[in-house]
Amino acid sequence: MATMITEECINCGACEPECPNEAISEGEDIYVIDPNLCTECVGFHDYEACQAVCPVECCIPDPNNSETEEVLLDRVRKIHADKDFPALGELPANLSRFRK
Ligand code: SF4
Ligand code: SF4
Repeated sequence: MATMITEECINCGACEPECPNEAISEGEDIYVIDPNLCTECVGFHDYEACQAVCPVECCIPDPNNSETEEVLLDRVRKIHADKDFPALGELPANLSRFRK
């Protein structure tokens, strides 16, 4: 599931610099997440960094965009081609919310 921002967003901007994939930007009315860049922070954190700083907790899993940990790990690899990530079977618990 990519993460999405709901209309509760108050446009504070706190989430934007926290995203390891630069997936968040200011939209027309509220901040938005590019689902092609969001990995639910897989590869970096065991939590969604945007949700962790959001004062109104409006960064939630998109119920219409369910994705596996494998898909998200493949995505983070492509986004950060210069960086090494562990294989799916060796991914440590602190790099994926799926392992909590
Ligand atoms: S869940 Fe992580 S990767 Fe996705 S938009 Fe939020 S901070 Fe970025
Ligand atoms: S931190 Fe939350 S309220 Fe602030 S811009 Fe991001 S989604 Fe909107």
